[in-house]
Formats: sequence, C-alpha cells, structure tokens
Amino acid sequence: MAVTEIETLVVGGGQAGIAMSEHLTRSGIPHLVIEKNRIAERWRSGRWDSLVANGPAWHDRFPNRTFPGDPDGFVAKDDVAAYFEDYARQIDAPVHCGVEVLRASKRDGAPGYLVQTTQGSYAVQNIVAATGPFQTPVIPPILPEQAGITQMHSADYRNPAALPKGGVLVVGAGSSGVQIAEELMEAGRRVHLSVGPHERPPRSYRGRDFCWWLGVLGKWDAAQMEPGREHVTIAVSGARGGKTVDFRALAARGMTLVGRTDGFQDGKLRFAPDLAENVARGDASLHALLDEADAHVRSNGLDLPPDPGARETLPDPECLTHPLRALDLAREGISTVIWATGYASDYSWLEVDAFDDRGRPQHQRGISRAPGIYFLGLPWQSRRGSAFIWGVWHDAKLLADHMLTRRSYAAYHAQASRAAPAQA
Ligand SMILES: Cc1cc2nc3c(=O)[nH]c(=O)nc-3n(C[C@H](O)[C@H](O)[C@H](O)COP(=O)(O)OP(=O)(O)OC[C@H]3O[C@@H](n4cnc5c(N)ncnc54)[C@H](O)[C@@H]3O)c2cc1C
Repeated sequence: MAVTEIETLVVGGGQAGIAMSEHLTRSGIPHLVIEKNRIAERWRSGRWDSLVANGPAWHDRFPNRTFPGDPDGFVAKDDVAAYFEDYARQIDAPVHCGVEVLRASKRDGAPGYLVQTTQGSYAVQNIVAATGPFQTPVIPPILPEQAGITQMHSADYRNPAALPKGGVLVVGAGSSGVQIAEELMEAGRRVHLSVGPHERPPRSYRGRDFCWWLGVLGKWDAAQMEPGREHVTIAVSGARGGKTVDFRALAARGMTLVGRTDGFQDGKLRFAPDLAENVARGDASLHALLDEADAHVRSNGLDLPPDPGARETLPDPECLTHPLRALDLAREGISTVIWATGYASDYSWLEVDAFDDRGRPQHQRGISRAPGIYFLGLPWQSRRGSAFIWGVWHDAKLLADHMLTRRSYAAYHAQASRAAPAQA
C-alpha cells in the first residue's frame, strides 16, 4: 500500500488536536489530524447528559473564539463539542474523522516514524499524541460481578432514568461523583456518596469565579502538584448555575456520606474511617483559598465586596459524626454502584521509547526523549491548567515552537551537506 508523507501527524481530534492544528498552521508546518470518531467525541458521547463545563464560558475557551451567550454561564457539553467543531472550521484544520491510528513505530534507517491507520500509512517526522488525559475508565477491583449489583463507571452514566430502580452508591467525590450524586438525589433516588481526599474551592468568592481567583493567584500556572496531593481530586461544579460543592449541605438534603470505599465482604461494602478527615481537609483547602484571595484583595486594593457567607459552615450531619463503616447493599435496596474513580491512559499504539516501565509518558512539557514524539493534553503537562481547554492551547504552542527548532537543525544539516559533502 502507498505511504503518504506528511511532516506531522496529530493523533486525536479533541480540543488538544484542534489547538495543535492551529499552532502548526501558524508555524507553517504541514500536518494532518487523525480522529477515530468525530471532533470532540468525548464531549459528545463520553459524558453524562446534563454535564456543563466546570469553568465559565469566558474562561474555558481558546483565545481566538468566544462562546455565544452569557460569558459567566457554564456551557452545556454538546455546545462545547459544537464550539470545537466550529473552531476546526474557523482555522480550516485538516482533520480526518473516522480513521484510527493502529500503530506507530520508528522507521528503520530513515528519520521519522511510520504510522499505520485504518485508512493507509504515513511516513512522518513528528507525532503528537493528543489522545486525551482521560482515556480508559478505571474501576477498582472491589465489588465482584457475582454481587449481582449493576456497576458502571461515571463515563457510562447518562441520566437517572437509565439506571435500574433503587438506591445508588456513588464512589468518588470529585467533580464527576458529586454532580452525578446530586442529580440522582434530585431525581428522588436514595444516594450514598463515598468521599475520598479532595479539594473544594469556592465556586465564587467576593463576586469572582474560582477560575478567576486561581488565575490571579498564579495557581493555574503551578508547575508541579504539591507533594502528597497526587491522589487528591477537585470537587467543583457548574451545574445549576454553579454552586460551591458543600458536602454538609448535600447531607442535610438527604444524601448519606461515607468514607473511601475499601472492600467488600458478605454482601457488604466497607468504608475506610477517613470521612471526617477527608471533609476537614476539603474545608481547609477552601479556607486557604479564601485567605489567599483576601490577602490579594488587601495588597492590591481591589474593590471587591466582602463575602462572609463563603466561610459559613453548616453543622456536621449524623453521617459525618457517626460514619457508616459498612453497607449491606441488598438490605439497603442499593441496585447500582457508580464508580467516579478516574481514568488511565493507553498508548499501546505508540511503539517508541518514550515511556517509563509503567507505560506512562516520559516527557518535559510534552516533549519526549524520542525525537519528534510529543504528548499534548496531559494533566500537569507544563502546569496545573494543562489538561483544560485554555491550558492545552498554550502547551500546543510550545510544541509547535519545538518542532520549528528541530526543523532548523535538519535545514542546517541539508545545507551544510550540500556545501561540503562528507568525504567518502
Ligand atoms: C467529566 C469531565 C468534565 C470535564 N470538564 C471540563 C471543563 O469543564 N473544562 C475544561 O477545561 N476541561 C474539562 N475536562 C477536562 C478536559 O478538558 C477533557 O477531558 C477534554 O476532553 C480533553 O481533551 P483532549 O483533546 O485532550 O482529549 P479528548 O477529548 O479525550 O480527545 C482525544 C481524542 O482522541 C481520539 N483518539 C484516541 N485514540 C485514537 C487513535 N488511536 N486514533 C485516532 N484517534 C484517537 C478520541 O476519539 C478522542 O476524540 C473534563 C473532563 C471530564 C472527564
């Protein structure tokens, strides 16, 4: 089969692939974006029906296009997908949809890589793996199939009506878990929520959204996670107009909070004795951010109204003071467990020396040790904001600049070889 030559192949047509295409075009680098489904497929079909963006429309976007409508609103997931489709059209991105990359490997005795897809092969100098920070849903091996309970990952949850009748345990209290648990409770389900370590920023404070605060306080640009916080999720939501996630308020409305789910025996799920500690640490993260925000207001003389309500805490509910350590699923009428427990990556198609022994990309700000192999959209790729819509755009620029630098070495080599051919 014929092999098509193209300088750069971008694998994945989500926000990362589209951002990469924009910067490659600006840099004059010929490229193709290969997407196995549709543009922004994960925003279309990889999330629950009612999902809205976690950040306001003015913030969670690329610099060169705004969302229609209220800039302070939270855009529905299908409108986010439409935004990226429109964006791809706006920049005339060369995206080939419905084509899957099957394998990429180093060319033998020639620079670059050979990429095999479901529609032909490519010889390329650069590959950008933009296949997403959240690829393969992870469910911890706790609840056996024989338990006879419907189990699903949050990636497969769609809406309350699609679940069997009965109570639901949602495991994981990051942004996905809390939003799904609240939606189920509002639909009349009895809900238990298993709360692990988390951060809980205020949705807004002194009239500004937390995305603004993280920006002005320099936190989106933090280059590294604080040591020990690697497994800490962030509980924030734009649902229902955007409200601070408040576990005590959820409990006051009827949700039962439990600690981290850590085992199953004799029909009972077991929970770690860590609920109070997890909630207290989440509270501490909220208060620390409010303190930093207040200090910023003071030192810059900003005219932002005081917001004492943000520091108010409801009384501890019974489920927090006397937490359940085990739950008999049958006796409690729990028919479904939803695991909002995160994702892993799968780079099995990329057969190059750019991974550690656990298959994780080895890179510096997306630039791998294998020349011409790049990653884009990874969590904390260059900074805290890297996996988010606006963050990935800036990381893509850095990668395009690096490709131009590589190009200059190749150009020098070609010119120098012509001027003085190597002695035989
Ligand atoms: C529930 C949830 C809510 C989120 N909300 C927000 C938010 O509000 N704001 C925000 O900024 N971020 C949010 N994020 C984070 C991030 O913005 C999204 O995960 C986003 O989808 C990442 O975009 P991406 O382009 O990096 O990857 P993806 O959207 O995952 O795109 C990767 C693409 O690669 C394709 N692909 C994979 N393998 C191949 C292959 N071998 N060949 C060809 N194509 C392939 C896939 O089909 C996919 O379309 C959220 C994430 C989750 C999970």
